[in-house]
Amino acid sequence: MDINVPISQFKRIGTVTLKKLEKLKLKTVQDLLFHYPFRYEDWSKVLTITELKTKKSGTVKAKITLIANHRSPRKRMVITEAIISDKTDSLKTIWFNQPFLATVLRPGTEAYFAGKIDFDETYGLEFLNPSYEIAGRKEPIHTGRLVPVYPTTANLSQKQIRSLIRQALPLAQTINDWLPREIRTAHNLPPLSVALEQIHFPSNKSWLERSLHRLKFDELFLIQLQNQLVRRELKKYQAPPIKFNLDETKKFVTHLPFQLTDSQRKSAWEILKDLEKNQPMNRLLEGDVGSGKTMVAILTILNTCLSKYQAAYMAPTEILAKQHFETIRGFLRQWPINIALFSRTDQKLATTKTQSGSESLKSSASQRLQKISKASLIKKIRNQKVDVVIGTHALIQEGVNFANLALVIIDEQHRFGVEQRSALLSDTKHTNTRELHEERKIIEKELSYKLNGIFFDVQKEAGRYLRERQYADLLEQKLKSAGIAYQRENPIELAGRKSNFADFIIENKILVELKAKPFFEKDDYYQLLRYLESAKLQLGLLVNFKQKFLKPKRILNPKFESFECDSSISSCLVPHFLSMTATPIPRSLALTLYGDLDLSIIDEIPKGRKKIITKIVPWTERQETYEFVRQQIKNGRQAFIICPLIDPSDQLGVKSVKDEYNKLKKNIFPDLEIAILHGQLKPKEKDKVMNGFLKNKINILVSTTVVEVGIDIANASIMIIEGAERFGLAQLYQLKGRIGRGAHQSYCFLFADNQSLKTYQRLKALLTAKNGFELAEKDLELRGPGEIFGTEQSGYLEGLKIAKLTDTDIIKEAQEAANTILSKGPELRAYPLLAKKIKNLQQTIHLE
Ligand code: ADP
Ligand code: MG
Repeated sequence: MDINVPISQFKRIGTVTLKKLEKLKLKTVQDLLFHYPFRYEDWSKVLTITELKTKKSGTVKAKITLIANHRSPRKRMVITEAIISDKTDSLKTIWFNQPFLATVLRPGTEAYFAGKIDFDETYGLEFLNPSYEIAGRKEPIHTGRLVPVYPTTANLSQKQIRSLIRQALPLAQTINDWLPREIRTAHNLPPLSVALEQIHFPSNKSWLERSLHRLKFDELFLIQLQNQLVRRELKKYQAPPIKFNLDETKKFVTHLPFQLTDSQRKSAWEILKDLEKNQPMNRLLEGDVGSGKTMVAILTILNTCLSKYQAAYMAPTEILAKQHFETIRGFLRQWPINIALFSRTDQKLATTKTQSGSESLKSSASQRLQKISKASLIKKIRNQKVDVVIGTHALIQEGVNFANLALVIIDEQHRFGVEQRSALLSDTKHTNTRELHEERKIIEKELSYKLNGIFFDVQKEAGRYLRERQYADLLEQKLKSAGIAYQRENPIELAGRKSNFADFIIENKILVELKAKPFFEKDDYYQLLRYLESAKLQLGLLVNFKQKFLKPKRILNPKFESFECDSSISSCLVPHFLSMTATPIPRSLALTLYGDLDLSIIDEIPKGRKKIITKIVPWTERQETYEFVRQQIKNGRQAFIICPLIDPSDQLGVKSVKDEYNKLKKNIFPDLEIAILHGQLKPKEKDKVMNGFLKNKINILVSTTVVEVGIDIANASIMIIEGAERFGLAQLYQLKGRIGRGAHQSYCFLFADNQSLKTYQRLKALLTAKNGFELAEKDLELRGPGEIFGTEQSGYLEGLKIAKLTDTDIIKEAQEAANTILSKGPELRAYPLLAKKIKNLQQTIHLE
């Protein structure tokens, strides 16, 4: 057995349990081992019954002296009643609805019992529903120790999870510890297998501390290492420098209906300065909801397009993509910039007629909007008939080829971790079909361009359905008339025999192989390589005339030293990256989390916004508030009602949303249109709901915090937050930012289940804070970083299951360790296990 074994191979495990485990994403032994407890019950001291009676809670080791089931008269419930006793005393013990206990715990059985004692007027002291564990040869795992408590799901008991993990644990021994020994020694960290054993079933508190330290270190170390690797990797690339066109930018800005805020100016400046470099920008733009990040993005798009490069704008959802398409084309309608929407269901193109040569602001707007097929949009993007493409991530993933993509903007970036960014990087690496950089040394650049032109002509003239020889004849004619020297079917000596023929050798410099087949095959490539070697040429072109979009492959003879990029990443052109997020991550955190990024921050909201009226509503005023909401909706407004997660097992908050929805629908607003939104809906269903809300067909949207962060629904003027005390301040602030976007006065009502003074004071910070950053800092101080983001967004903290961003000491240690390791070379040659670990991490992410 090894740790990749599926849990289904365990003895005595049924499909029902497996299903529940799958809900927790637990499929293999490995998953179990890394399913960490989120807290521990300290049942470590075994008490006597006398002691337990005074302490009221704890663990005892005692014998069953009597046990029987009976039914409770009123509620239809089975009650198991027992008397347990030890040397000191005996105690009545009661369990509800677990009749099997009477057979498991026969009189005379000795067991550990852990739980609380309750006092009842009629029945006296009772041990209520204690966990039990039969005392045997094995060390107890459910009682009599520091007992782990795990995140779980409905009807999967702690006991079941514990037992499974106990079964899995011996296999921890088989994991190779990938953390280099020198690091372990230097930081006094226990081996991985020990840490895993101890995190689940700690021998004592100090071992728990040590293993926590080790496992937190692991996570933080890996993040830092990946960050630094990405940063190094990026340095190897070149990007097309984009000129900061000051005059045109000014012209654009003066024509805006509002003044840019200082922060917008500053951020835009930082970005545009970055774009001028020939190293790829990799920058995060942070700013509150409504702070106007899109405008900054538009300024960078404008400059990119004025330099005749293409830009891609990626939104996290289809709806947002559509919304941004409308916004961006609105602002750029007077510029000679063609803007496309590329989404799964919809493609549109907005074109502006240009007077040729003119790059400046046009006096009269004449933008044409048309629907367009996916295929023809793809073609236009490839031929640079489109300057800006707005879409979802499918844009890059579907392998749309750009002629010269120079800028990629990713909105609401906080959903993506460092791994996703590096995956994105490798996705875009190959999207440019044309060379961009004027000064780059490309072997036989002119000649290959000339040839490419001729190949295109051949295909244009001959179509895609001829035979190889016919294409060759046509090509020969064209070469002749273009005055290019060539040899046709030049014998190539392979393995001592001159029996193979290269299709063409052009000017004794470039070897050309023609194909007419549905796809290139690997062998075509190897054949050309062999030809190149024996002909002692440096460059080969592989041309397949059956290809829909003719794309001759440049193949370099590796035996030649060269500057060219095709085979080595180092000189490939990649686009600049701008990521945008509304999650106000304090700078210190951002540096840990996004160590590979530079940071720009917008920390002010445009002037003249109506202030959102925010109120902490005491429970006595709940009805009144609902009446107010009804009034607002009668006036045409719309409302969000946000629900928190109920418990860790309800990871998506689905239960609470459904409960709330039912309550509102039945008792409070039976006459209104209410819809429900949560993370378990399919994208299509989500779109449908959001569209309905956008069109004001839905009055009230009951939702978890998944409501698309950036969505702009100007008509929604009410936000009710249930269980407000469960949210981080910064998160509340962000939720609040979804209203107050239109002309209407907006209201945010906070309902708290817990009405303590402390809750009230914390929530009050929301009423006074100037911006999200201030709140994020406060949150960090008050509640720790996990809370800033909330469980739902923790996808963004993917690599952090156990470490906290407040573990500043460990963060520092991990950073040092990453530096030490990298100082010995980024290939990690001396650390094959670590190298493999990093590679696996990147791969799993990429596959998702
Ligand atoms: P976010 O940062 O959340 O993406 P948006 O870019 O959607 O914010 O901007 C929110 C609204 O504010 C938009 O309607 C936008 O046109 C407007 N806006 C942007 N900048 C300014 C400004 N400097 N002054 C006034 N309104 C602005
Ligand atoms: Mg936005």
